Amino acid sequence: MSNPLLGNFTGPFGTAPFSTIKEEHFIPAFDAAIAEAKENIKALENNTDAPTFENSVVALEHCSDTLGQISSIFFNLNSAETNDEIQKIAQEVSPKLSSLQNDILLNEKLFERVKAVYEQKDTLNLDVEDARLLEKTYKDFSLNGAALNAEDKEKLREVDLKLSKLSLTFGEHVLAATNAYELVIDKEEDLAGLPEAVIEGAAMTAKEAGKEGKWQFTLQYPSYIPFMTYAENRTLRKDLFTAFGTRCFDGGDNDNQKIVKEIVQYRNEKAKLLGFDNYADYVLEKRMAPSPKAVVDFLTDLEQKAHPAANKEVEDVVNYAKENGAEEVQRWDWGFWSEKLKKERYAIDDEALKPYFKLENVLNGVFEVSSKLYDLHFEARTDIDKYHEDVMTYEVKDGKGRHIAVFYADFFPRAGKRGGAWMTSFRGQSIYNGEEKRPHVSIVCNFTKPTETKPSLLTFNEVTTLFHEFGHALHGMLAEGKYESLTGTSVYWDFVELPSQVLENWCYEKEALDLFASHYETGEKIPQEMIDKIKASSTFLEGYQTLRQVSFGLLDMSYHQLHDGKVADVSQFEEMAMEPTSIEALPKVDGVNMSVAFSHIFQGGYAAGYYSYKWAEVLDADAFELFKEKGIFDKNTASSFKDNILSRGGIEDPMELYKRFRGEEPKVDALLRRAGLLN
Ligand SMILES: [Zn+2]
Repeated sequence: MSNPLLGNFTGPFGTAPFSTIKEEHFIPAFDAAIAEAKENIKALENNTDAPTFENSVVALEHCSDTLGQISSIFFNLNSAETNDEIQKIAQEVSPKLSSLQNDILLNEKLFERVKAVYEQKDTLNLDVEDARLLEKTYKDFSLNGAALNAEDKEKLREVDLKLSKLSLTFGEHVLAATNAYELVIDKEEDLAGLPEAVIEGAAMTAKEAGKEGKWQFTLQYPSYIPFMTYAENRTLRKDLFTAFGTRCFDGGDNDNQKIVKEIVQYRNEKAKLLGFDNYADYVLEKRMAPSPKAVVDFLTDLEQKAHPAANKEVEDVVNYAKENGAEEVQRWDWGFWSEKLKKERYAIDDEALKPYFKLENVLNGVFEVSSKLYDLHFEARTDIDKYHEDVMTYEVKDGKGRHIAVFYADFFPRAGKRGGAWMTSFRGQSIYNGEEKRPHVSIVCNFTKPTETKPSLLTFNEVTTLFHEFGHALHGMLAEGKYESLTGTSVYWDFVELPSQVLENWCYEKEALDLFASHYETGEKIPQEMIDKIKASSTFLEGYQTLRQVSFGLLDMSYHQLHDGKVADVSQFEEMAMEPTSIEALPKVDGVNMSVAFSHIFQGGYAAGYYSYKWAEVLDADAFELFKEKGIFDKNTASSFKDNILSRGGIEDPMELYKRFRGEEPKVDALLRRAGLLN
């Protein structure tokens, strides 16, 4: 049986042959490709030639090319067009892939070869790209413990095992504590203020729990947030707030205080084993942010500049609440009153905006923006194989007619697609044995489908989403390098959102909007006052929000910067870490705790990384400020952004790349200026 996943792809540009791929092809293809990778590794291990950059580092980069190709097709389908069969295959294949990964990174003979090359790096005359690949490969091994002696390797294995169990338990506790609470309402008057859809949802939840005729609210965000934002009943808001803030903090079965201390302790131990002073040092080894101190300085700078604005905003909301009959504003009143004020000052009617954003117009708009900036041209193609009829396919060329990339766009929701929006690729960019592979990039969204009478009209939020994902796509499409693991979006984690977020800025500029935002029936261009309103509402309470994000970032850094990894008391520790961001007019509530449910850092992958949300915003605001200064379609600025950022992927240190574009390191001021917090 011939397996389409294993042959050469013979379609236009070597695109994936979706229409001939069947579910039953995946397992045999994965097995064959894993076997091939293992053969390649064995050959590398047994190579008796002295280690060189080519025969070791480059050979390693390409040892699982076939597997990479199959994986990207398979896992993209599992996100965008999945079914039971595909999900079953994913369950079966994932452990095989991680075990192969371990076979490589824990392989002593491979590491010996890489290390031998690494030790000669200064005499090898490597170009920038080769030097970076060597550095990256060496780090991948050593940060995984490959350089440790047998005893320490065993210790590391034990610590990792403990950490993965603790994180799992942490998450289970948060989930259990969240699910253990319910607020059941049986008097209709207690629903006052809540939107119809929220009330319906609560009725449904109650019905499913066997309480027909009542309304049930929970601590899950889709229920909790609307209740805190709209419910007029203050006592119930306080109940819900208190329940939320005391999850995993009540000394019961789901209490996470001990687990927080243990996770912090073991992470510290891990960092020490790998030769670092603390866990943040270890994490930041592979980040754009140069050091924990730089991160804390960054957060502190933001805190100091945003604090006055935050104080004023809080005062503003409190005064507004009092004018409207409130006696005081506590934390459980904050969401309620700020939403009311926002509505009064900046009400935007989504329905009135949508006609200006017909999907086809917005897509043409983002094409035109990238044509003006980067000289890219998009040509619709009907001969490129696709995995669903809704997918649109394009060839991307530059102004000289050079083939740049294949672009797929998949916009509408359907049963087999997960929620949200993302950019991905079916093939990365690389040059190997004199042959260049150009990228095959895709964006996947969940926008409203057109009907027989109405085209797909986007909300403004969906417009910025499309620009965001397209920004990632540009990063992928414009890649120019030799090694796939260093091109496109293969960059440090706190740098990857710059190309995406920066492109969102064009959605707020009249000059860009005039290219595409015209009413789909009348052709009228979007009025300036609408743009002004969108801008104003997007920065509402920006000072307060900034302080809030900074407080989480500081808390995260405090835990992971401890020299000895010891936390005596979780509550006191948290209070001290977050103290710099406190706001007098909105006092902290005693007895609630954030750390014990801070899943981002104790369950997910954001440990010593929470700062990256604000970091990315600072980068995009600071970068866009140069465009604003020179003109949002200025050719020189765009070329520089393309040459130094979009094309360079992870070939060089991101801070170096950024400085080459901007002339200096990023500063927080541009973000604050954009939000109107600084003149
Ligand atoms: Zn993104």
